[in-house]
Amino acid sequence: MKKFVQQFRSRQAVKPSTVPSHSHDSSNTMVQKYTTARVRAVFRRELRAIVLVASLTVSLILGAASCSGGGLNLFDTATDAQLGKQMDDQIRQNPKEYPILNNPAVKQYIQNMINDIIRSEHVKYRGTFPYQAEVIADDKTINAFCTPGGYIYVYTGLMKAVDNEATLAGVLGHEVAHAERRHGTSRMTKAYGLQIVLSIALGQNPSQLATIGANLFSGLALLKNSRLDEDDADNFSFKYLQGTRWYPGSIKFFFEKVGGQRGQGDGIGTTVERLLSSHPLPQDRIDATNKRIEEAKLPPPSESNLHAIPYQQFKRTLP
Ligand SMILES: [Zn+2]
Repeated sequence: MKKFVQQFRSRQAVKPSTVPSHSHDSSNTMVQKYTTARVRAVFRRELRAIVLVASLTVSLILGAASCSGGGLNLFDTATDAQLGKQMDDQIRQNPKEYPILNNPAVKQYIQNMINDIIRSEHVKYRGTFPYQAEVIADDKTINAFCTPGGYIYVYTGLMKAVDNEATLAGVLGHEVAHAERRHGTSRMTKAYGLQIVLSIALGQNPSQLATIGANLFSGLALLKNSRLDEDDADNFSFKYLQGTRWYPGSIKFFFEKVGGQRGQGDGIGTTVERLLSSHPLPQDRIDATNKRIEEAKLPPPSESNLHAIPYQQFKRTLP
């Protein structure tokens, strides 16, 4: 993975931001150095920046720029979708790291689950983001991830590790939430700062977006979501699953599973260990989920909302 990211990064070398400096020299001699055309060009650029800042300010006041668990986000949803597509392309070009499972029935099973989850009234970008499922044939990785803009990848290792469909739905809901809550581009806003975000928005540095995409891509692969984003995604997974056939608190079974396997010393244990080193402690997330279950006054789960029996049958069809 590292090698791949390095290769990609070297192709998209970081270029310094070309945001114009706002240090206007008020002395006439400085202005005279510019030709009239140059002054006009600079003025036009600055005017565009001012218009953009003004519109951003308006959208901040109106609350259009989201300030969620992921924090302030100055990007539009089209950028999330563009980044997602870019990452999806990169993943598909790297079968060594991401061996895509060639099994239409298994892929459709996951896609159907996602389609049911995104029917939730809490999902806003159902028509904006593709929410497209893909399965990675890797039994050692008990995980799933989602790019900005909703390209969801599920490892066979996760599908084999969980005991019932509801647990898988809980994890899928969590991944949908990362896209819906736009955690990736919120992180970008925070990491790159207003100046670079503005230069991208103004189209002054098109390669910057590709660079950021590559960096974010490596960030996603290494599961660098903040604790706050993880908790936010758990919370929204709970909301999405309410009104579905699955027990809304089911993501906690995933944490119980990975928590229980921690440090066992087998192949799975080491992968889990790595996963947990970049994720909040499962116990914190189990406690938070239990609190949500209590607040929603949910009765204990049963086969009718866990769907363990049909899921075990499905598991037997996995390669
Ligand atoms: Zn997550």
